[in-house]
Amino acid sequence: MAVRSIITHPNDVLLKKCEEVTKFDNKLAKLLDDMYDTMVASDGIGIAAPQVGETIQAAIVDLGEGQDIIEMINPEIVEVGGSEIEVEGCLSFPDIYGEVERPFFVKVEAQDRTGALYELQAEDYEARAILHEIDHLHGVLFTTKVVRYVELDEIENEVEEV
Ligand SMILES: [Zn+2]
Repeated sequence: MAVRSIITHPNDVLLKKCEEVTKFDNKLAKLLDDMYDTMVASDGIGIAAPQVGETIQAAIVDLGEGQDIIEMINPEIVEVGGSEIEVEGCLSFPDIYGEVERPFFVKVEAQDRTGALYELQAEDYEARAILHEIDHLHGVLFTTKVVRYVELDEIENEVEEV
């Protein structure tokens, strides 16, 4: 377990379409553990592999609050519903916050660290974090979706970074 440094914008690694994971080995498990440590150390609620310099389709979301840690390998969005505009932040864009419109509901198919396929449904900020991370795996940054940038003092609640 180790905290890695987070790749911040601008960096080409963040713009690459990540490769599908085919080997569910110790190296993947170690990367996921490192990603988790890095996310926690940065006070984030989500992190994608390219943010630590690995361009593979692996991401984590953990809202805390006693919920399970979501590890998504090769995630595919199978359904979305509704829409909501909320302020978002990103560990790769320190001190940048903006309003992004995203679906309120998402259903995702992904693999876990052993390669087992599972389905996941999420709403609200959890859905937002999941969709933000899946965007990272396709080289899509939240700044391409921001409808309005906001200053920190405009924000009432603490913004979670992903
Ligand atoms: Zn991000």
